Amino acid sequence: MYFFSQCCTKDPGTITKLNNEVFLGVYPYDQVMFYQGVLCPTCVLVKPARSKHCRVCNVCVHRFDHHCVWVNNCIGAFNTKYFLLYLMTLSAMAADIAVLTIGLLLHLVLQSNLMSAAYVDEEGHQQPVGLFFYLFLTFPRIVFMLGFLMFLFLLLLGYSFFHLYLAVTNQTANEWYKRKSHGCQHCNPSPLQQQSHTSLHNFYSRGTFRNLKEILKPITKNEKKGR
Ligand SMILES: [Zn+2]
Ligand SMILES: [Zn+2]
Repeated sequence: MYFFSQCCTKDPGTITKLNNEVFLGVYPYDQVMFYQGVLCPTCVLVKPARSKHCRVCNVCVHRFDHHCVWVNNCIGAFNTKYFLLYLMTLSAMAADIAVLTIGLLLHLVLQSNLMSAAYVDEEGHQQPVGLFFYLFLTFPRIVFMLGFLMFLFLLLLGYSFFHLYLAVTNQTANEWYKRKSHGCQHCNPSPLQQQSHTSLHNFYSRGTFRNLKEILKPITKNEKKGR
């Protein structure tokens, strides 16, 4: 709940006239996705590298990741860490409740000796009770909740790993999507022919440890970037 509230209330990095100058000095322009001197027509401000105008919030956001409808806020430089931790704790919570529910059902099965339970059919023969069928008929809501929780857990785990991958490789979801949808044809290799596509695709990466540090402690203008 703490990480969720932080995601909802923390300023993701709104760019205003007052702080525009500061954000302009944080990241260099890669000349592939972000070009120098591009003006946001709505905010009428020069776009800093890695920023994007959010159509929902109607502001430009520093190190824009995406607009999350779940937390009703943009995910940007200053709340990415909370979003990542929120996803991870939510996955852990879903797994925890699923394990507790399985434990409860298992306890019930062992207590009632359901494994060896049988019923007599119309012809008088003893038939073994289908365990899952029995549990579903007896506790439909609990079994349905367990199935839903397992599905939710896998979904959240996948999404958590995706955002962890983005954090480790120093990409935003916006940049990842742009690279994915435009492919290499979007890369303008002529002025940057010396650089391989790999280095272009990892333009902002500074190594795993530093990339993670950047998520936890976003870069400010005065910090030495080490590049
Ligand atoms: Zn804007
Ligand atoms: Zn937004």
